[in-house]
Amino acid sequence: MAEWDDYKIFWRETLSLIKREKGEQEFAMWFNLEFLKATENQITLGVPSSFYRDQVKQRYQDYIEAAIKNLTGKDISLVFEVKPKTVEENPARESAGDAQNAEKTVSPAVKASVKEKKSGHSQLNKDYTFDKYVIGTKNSFAANATMAAAKNPGISYSPLLIYGGVGLGKTHLMQAIGNYIYENSDRKIIYTTAENFMNEFVDMLSQNQERKNAFKNKYRYNVDVLLIDDIHFFEKKDSTQEELFHIFNELHNAKKQIVFTCDRPVQELKNLTERLKSRFEQGLNVELEIPDFETRCAILKNKAESRKISIPVEVISLVSRQVSSNVRDLESALTKLIAYAELVGKPITVEITQQLLKNEFASPKQINMSIDTIQRVVADYFSLSLTDLKGKKRNQNIVFPRQLAMYISQKMTEYSTTEIGQDFGGKDHTTVMHSCSKIEERIKADPTLDSTIQTLIRTIKETSAKS
Ligand code: ADP
Ligand code: MG
Repeated sequence: MAEWDDYKIFWRETLSLIKREKGEQEFAMWFNLEFLKATENQITLGVPSSFYRDQVKQRYQDYIEAAIKNLTGKDISLVFEVKPKTVEENPARESAGDAQNAEKTVSPAVKASVKEKKSGHSQLNKDYTFDKYVIGTKNSFAANATMAAAKNPGISYSPLLIYGGVGLGKTHLMQAIGNYIYENSDRKIIYTTAENFMNEFVDMLSQNQERKNAFKNKYRYNVDVLLIDDIHFFEKKDSTQEELFHIFNELHNAKKQIVFTCDRPVQELKNLTERLKSRFEQGLNVELEIPDFETRCAILKNKAESRKISIPVEVISLVSRQVSSNVRDLESALTKLIAYAELVGKPITVEITQQLLKNEFASPKQINMSIDTIQRVVADYFSLSLTDLKGKKRNQNIVFPRQLAMYISQKMTEYSTTEIGQDFGGKDHTTVMHSCSKIEERIKADPTLDSTIQTLIRTIKETSAKS
């Protein structure tokens, strides 16, 4: 008992030390850790989600353990336990600036008022919910982060930035945050596209003072959750950027939840002021990628079921294989099939699908990524010849790019390790697997490698889209 209390005191001390060292912002984001219990050489901490746990372990476990050792002189290890806080337990409203509000419970009156308004938020599409979002390997990180943000608005991940190509589900996930918070609390939510925001801003400039104040109040003081879609639109719009910068600071200081989406990583927005870029990058930036084959099948199956149309498995897998550009294209292929089935009143077969979707299937951007493109981009990046990249030479300056190219091939294509091995001068599939695990090890040891890989993947996608 005494021991426990001692540890609790040490833990509190450790937290204030960390807060001093890391600063308010980082502290609020990553040290939402609840002391659960302790033994002689172990402290168990509660975290809000598995995602949060993995991030904290990766980023801070060693650091926190060292801080504890500093204070106690003992080697105490940390164990994390996932203890999701339900929204009921965790309203963090009224003065959202105070993270401690997270611990208060919602009053019955608030619950009642939440129950009453089920008509839906006027700016949000009610179909864009987490329930309707299919999670696969390529989007689970983004999906988990958005869910965590929805469950603890303003606390864990604010600002949150979701980026990725067109039709990959950015708007869906962003609105899912809005819908979730709307359903479970009475926070004020604003969803707007960057374009609408700019129009509203420009319009306001020519209005009287009253209207100007109304704009200011709306975006700075009367909002708890601000969702701005497609911020790449702000490029070159200098005065709008300026306004957003001030709104951002105001909301961020008040610990409100801010979410943005963008069609590319923020660093690649050339015509955005550095200070705004740094604000966008300040929080968590998560990428959405093209879903893999299995996820595409699951998405199609879900969409077909929700439209109460039965589609044979062969058709689902044919469409998923052929339409690999993005989810929006996948949906429109499905809409065509459903329209046909409804109009003609006949079942959808593989033959009919081939016929109806022949244009979609032939479109160049939907041809599967080729290993050849990957090899060329990687060889070019490392100034090697294609022959060397695919060959047998064992110099380190060739082996590493070769392993990297195999790793990327395995990530970006649906070829098996055997097929990939063949394309690398007839190597065995175990060589490919070995290469992939080597690269994974190196990513862990060297975080900059991950950004090199992301750069390569983007170049590969661009090259592939052009060819
Ligand atoms: P973006 O904003 O990235 O261009 P959207 O959010 O508009 O993309 O998504 C395009 C369409 O694809 C939407 O109808 C959305 O519901 C759907 N969609 C995207 N990803 C998924 C997913 N993982 N599961 C279910 N539907 C998805
Ligand atoms: Mg969108």
